[in-house]
Amino acid sequence: MRYLLSLLIINILVFANVDSIMPEPIFSDEEKAYLKEKKEITMCIDPDWMPFEKIENAKHIGMTEEHFRLFSKKINTPIVLIPTATWTQSIEFAKARKCDIFSLAMSTPERLGYMNFTKPYLTSELVIITQITKPFLDDPRSLTKQPLGITKDYAFIQILKMKYPNSNLIEFNTLKDGLEAVRRGEIFGYVDNLITSGYAIQKDYIGELKIAGKFDEQWNWGIGVRNDDLVLLSIFNKAISSIKNEQYREIINKWISVQYESGFDYELFFELMAFLLFITSLLAYRHYTLNKYTKILEEKERQLRTLSITDSLSGLYNRRHFDDIFFQEFNRAKRTELPFIYAMLDIDNFKKYNDIYGHQLGDIAISLVSDVLQHHTRRAGDYAFRIGGEEFALIFQSTQEQEDINQKKFENILQDIKNLRISHKVNHPSLLLTISCGATKILSYHNIDTLELYRFTDANLYEAKEKGRDRVVYKEIK
Ligand code: GH3
Ligand code: MG
Ligand code: MG
Repeated sequence: MRYLLSLLIINILVFANVDSIMPEPIFSDEEKAYLKEKKEITMCIDPDWMPFEKIENAKHIGMTEEHFRLFSKKINTPIVLIPTATWTQSIEFAKARKCDIFSLAMSTPERLGYMNFTKPYLTSELVIITQITKPFLDDPRSLTKQPLGITKDYAFIQILKMKYPNSNLIEFNTLKDGLEAVRRGEIFGYVDNLITSGYAIQKDYIGELKIAGKFDEQWNWGIGVRNDDLVLLSIFNKAISSIKNEQYREIINKWISVQYESGFDYELFFELMAFLLFITSLLAYRHYTLNKYTKILEEKERQLRTLSITDSLSGLYNRRHFDDIFFQEFNRAKRTELPFIYAMLDIDNFKKYNDIYGHQLGDIAISLVSDVLQHHTRRAGDYAFRIGGEEFALIFQSTQEQEDINQKKFENILQDIKNLRISHKVNHPSLLLTISCGATKILSYHNIDTLELYRFTDANLYEAKEKGRDRVVYKEIK
């Protein structure tokens, strides 16, 4: 694909080879006298050959119009447009000497019968246009058996027919007719110069047709000058030479850049692709970082939530969470009519423990007791809370499959705490740190709410304390 771009660059560079630059045309005395006498030069153009030239509202427009503005300044003689309807008519007019010159034409043996040609001032590659789905052609000459369209009366017909006698050339009245035939798949491709093909594709066939390859041949267009006027031929050759390369290039750039911006600017295409890639990567990166930060945020939020419901000393759920969960889980059990077990625990003689061992060891003791409670509430639906200084609450949800929670469960907890073997020398009779527990199991929810359950369980705990501490008072409500 890239070669299409280089084609155009080649095209532009070719102009650097248009003869050496002369600041002003040096006309001979004969030529000067001729021009003085001539008054005006009549010109025929192709009335429909953009971007080279066109007659629009009886005016000459396009690239050659700009060239002839420069030429006419050099020769200092008006050049008058003779309007025609078609290129074929322009040829007829030239043959009939109704026009002295063709603005832009290529020399062919047939044309030399009535025209001479100046050196070229405009060149372009010969290319082949196909449907966009066709493969790119390394050597379009291999296509000689395929039907290829070409514009009627164009100089290249004779040249191609001579060079490739086997070619299957089909003539069309206009480039547009031919391109339509390519679009419809009636012919394989169309042969024309790069500049007009590119212009036509960008105007009417973007996404449908493309330039699929190029021939080695090159279009070289000069000015056609009636062949009975050699002085005029010499004048135009001098005029062409006197135009600076930069001026030629300016015209090309002006028209080609328009064409490329709209249709064939592969450089722009690649730039656009790179830009799109850049934007896509940017979006992907943004998506990635957003995702990353969302995850970090979610994690922070989770940590914060955990912190807000956790007691820092014990690592158990805190009082605030207890208020939510106690109510929530009680109601869930009530709905499902499954047993709900609630227990309150209070370290025995803890005031004295602090008094004897100090507050710091007291904290450690709380933390060790908490670990035991945590250990015994590992199932889903089991909870351990620190609801006050040395007071704890446990909730057990029962499901049919789960082991039954009963007095024994709490006795095991108490034993595990005693097994910590934290000395508490005034806590009789064990002289170890112990805890008392009041527990309630609800089997039937008639006339009982959370407040009632709380009070009932607290009474059980009180009873345990009263009975001598380090014991469980476990009751079922049926
Ligand atoms: P009882 O067996 O009747 O429960 O006697 P007790 O001494 O444990 O009960 P009381 O309610 O009289 O005293 C509770 C003590 O717990 C008071 C305080 O010194 C101690 N305490 C409460 N919170 C903390 C704490 O966070 N850290 C420490 N080290 N001690 C605490
Ligand atoms: Mg207490
Ligand atoms: Mg206590």
